Amino acid sequence: MFSRSSDNGACAVPEGNAAKGSDPPAAPASLSAYVHVPYCLQRCGYCDFNTYANLSLGPGVDGYADALTQEIKMSHGDVLFDSFFAKRMSQKARPHDSLSTVFFGGGTPTILPASDLVKILEALRATYGIVDGAEVTAEANPDTVDAGYLEELARGGFTRVSFGMQSAAPHVLATLDRTHTQAHLEAAVRAAHNLGLETSVDLIYGTPGESLDDWRASLEAALNLGVKHISCYALTIEPGTRLGLALARGEIAPVDPDDQADKYEIADAVLSAAGLQWYEISNWAVPGRECRHNLAYWRNRDWLGFGPGAHSHLRAATSRSDSSAAPVPLGSVSDSAGVRWWNVKSPVKWLAAVSKGELPVEDSEVIKGEAAWLEHVLLNIRLREGLDLREPATQSGDGSTLFRSLSSLPKAVTVPDCSANLRKAAEALAGEGLLDADALTSNRGVLTLKGRLLADTVTRRLSEFD
Ligand code: SF4
Repeated sequence: MFSRSSDNGACAVPEGNAAKGSDPPAAPASLSAYVHVPYCLQRCGYCDFNTYANLSLGPGVDGYADALTQEIKMSHGDVLFDSFFAKRMSQKARPHDSLSTVFFGGGTPTILPASDLVKILEALRATYGIVDGAEVTAEANPDTVDAGYLEELARGGFTRVSFGMQSAAPHVLATLDRTHTQAHLEAAVRAAHNLGLETSVDLIYGTPGESLDDWRASLEAALNLGVKHISCYALTIEPGTRLGLALARGEIAPVDPDDQADKYEIADAVLSAAGLQWYEISNWAVPGRECRHNLAYWRNRDWLGFGPGAHSHLRAATSRSDSSAAPVPLGSVSDSAGVRWWNVKSPVKWLAAVSKGELPVEDSEVIKGEAAWLEHVLLNIRLREGLDLREPATQSGDGSTLFRSLSSLPKAVTVPDCSANLRKAAEALAGEGLLDADALTSNRGVLTLKGRLLADTVTRRLSEFD
C-alpha cells in the first residue's frame, strides 16, 4: 500500500469550511484485513516498499496464494493465536467480527493471477467471514489488468480497484520508472466501470521536472476517468532508491517543499471544484465514496495483516473474550490503546515460518500511555471529522485517570491532566489559522487547508504536555 504522508512542511491558506460538508460513513465495529503481495514487475525509482522484482523469492508468485492461505488459516487457530498473545498481553486478544473491509496491496497484487486473488479472498471468507456489503479492494498496476482479469475479480467478490496512475505526464512517469501509458489506464478504468467496480487512482506530486501545469493536467486527466476517489501523495525521495542515488550524484534536484505545497493547494482546489472533498489529508472522494478500509486505519480500528511485513492492530476494546463488544464510539480515546504486531519482512523467512506451521510474526508492541495519546491525535487529526477535543474531560474528568485507563501504564509514571492544555493548544492553533475556528465551537479539532500542510506541527502541539 502506498501510504506516504503529504505533510510536506509548507504553508498555504486557511480553509474556513473544513468541518462542513457531509462526513464520511461511520465505521461499524468490525474487522479489516490487509493482504500484502510483495512482488512487482520492476522496482520503481522512488519505491522503498517491501516488494521484490525477483518473482521467485520465497513462495514466488506461483506459490504465494497457497502460502498466504496457510497463514490466514493459522492466524485463526486457537492454539497458535492464543499462545502468541499469552506471551505478550494480560488480556486474551482475538478478533471476533467478520471482515467489513479487505485491501490487497503491495507490491503489485495484480501480478498474481486473478484466480489467486479470489482464492485468498475465499480463504479470508472461510476463516473470518465477510459481511454483506463489504468493501474489497485490489491495488492494480494498469499494465497487469485487462477486462477479463477485472471481470474475474468482480465475480470473485472484489468491489473496488485502486489504480496506480501517479501522473499523466509521460516524462514524469519516466522519472518514476512507471511503464504504463494513460491509454492503458483509461482502458482499465473503463473496463472496471463497465463491471460496476468502484475505482480510485493514486497520484504523486512533486516529482523532479514536474511543472505546475503537468500537475494540473494530471488532476484533470484523473477526473476525466470518472473515478470518485483520488489519493494524492507528495513524493519523498528515500536514500537507497534509484531516485535517492540519482539525487546523491546530483543528477536530479531534491523535492521542493514549497512546490509540493503549491501542488497540494492546486489538488484541493481542482478536486473540490469537481465535487470531491477531502476526508483524509491525502484522500479526496465524492461524499459517500470514501475508502472504508482507509478510514478503518485512520480511525485506529482493528485490522489483521497477512503476508511478509504486514502489520496488524487490535484495540484493547476488542481484546475481550465475549463477542458482543459494543461499537466503540467514534474518536473514543480508549480506541487508541491496543496491541500491534508485524510479520517478518523477508518473503523467504515468512515462508519458512508458515511452512513450519508458525505465525510469521517478527515482533509486537502494546500501545499505551503517552504513546497511545500521541497516536490517537496523529491519526484523528488527519481526518476531516477531526479530533474530539472533549475526550479527556468527558471520559475521565482527569487526564491521569484517562491514561491509567488506557493501558497498563506503570504507577510510577505520572501523566498530567491534558484536557486544559489540549483546549488551549487548539485555540492557539485556530488563532494561527491551522485549525478551523467554527469546528472548535463544536469541540472538534479540524485542520484547515493551511493546517493540512502543517499536520505534523499541529499534532505535536496538540499532544504536548506542559
Ligand atoms: S509498483 Fe508500487 S510497490 Fe511496485 S515498485 Fe512501483 S511503487 Fe513500488
